[in-house]
Amino acid sequence: MLINDFPNNYEIIVNPELPGTGKWGVPEVYIPQGFKPKTLGGHLILRINVDQQWQVWHVDSDENSEIWTAPDPDRILIAGVEGALYVSLKDPSDIIKFKLYSLNVRSVKEQGVLLLNDYFRVMALDSSGIRWQTSELVEDDMTIKAIDGDRVICSGFSLSNIDEEVKIVLDTSTGAVLKDTTRPPKKSPLQRFRTRLSLFRRGKSSPKPDSACEVCGFYTFFSDERGRYLICPVCFWEDDEFHKNPDEPCDGPNHGISLNQARKNYHKFGASRKEDVPHVRKPRPEEIPS
Ligand SMILES: [Zn+2]
Repeated sequence: MLINDFPNNYEIIVNPELPGTGKWGVPEVYIPQGFKPKTLGGHLILRINVDQQWQVWHVDSDENSEIWTAPDPDRILIAGVEGALYVSLKDPSDIIKFKLYSLNVRSVKEQGVLLLNDYFRVMALDSSGIRWQTSELVEDDMTIKAIDGDRVICSGFSLSNIDEEVKIVLDTSTGAVLKDTTRPPKKSPLQRFRTRLSLFRRGKSSPKPDSACEVCGFYTFFSDERGRYLICPVCFWEDDEFHKNPDEPCDGPNHGISLNQARKNYHKFGASRKEDVPHVRKPRPEEIPS
């Protein structure tokens, strides 16, 4: 399979029809498998036009391998289960090997980046080669969940607790872990009020909060700003987009407590955590469900 996401200086056909005479009549190149032990017997044929000249490549790789065009317009990535070969079309002996077991590839075209991950880490290729690679970020099962422009959102099992699934956010351009900066800067109540007032004046929003807090049940949020880590003024729960399971512990300002625990705390102390009692206020009349 060919995934042709980046512009390049060649034309490529994966597994073309065999010629009737048994001869290609063009230069043939053998690309050896880069990985040992060799567990994947297979053969892939590529017909490639480089500089107006057709070549046939015999690639010692699994037939299910994926061929990716790359941010470097003169290279292809041959991705198999055990890893990838990053091969120069101009000089097929120039092969960079990436040993990444259970390799997964994603492209971020807008950023000119190809992302590769195995069970533990992520790396990014750009037009000049390896742009960055992370250390082992998770104990197992690293998965790229989403690419949101300049952020790569991953999940996996925590290095410190294999039973805990963690979410890790990486900066697409540097690979830096942005766990904390994924949260938009907190706005003060006055800044929020001004934004709200300006939206209302422009006819873009309701003047009243219209979305109930999962913990205290009062209407303290606006539906168009849910999941943006705003804090409920009545119970001090942080509105976090990631947690759908009420028994899953929440990080950040929710301090590892689950939604259900926060509800119990609110009924007992009047805040989602006992420590936050001094910060909360009573619900306003417009926040009380009718
Ligand atoms: Zn609340």
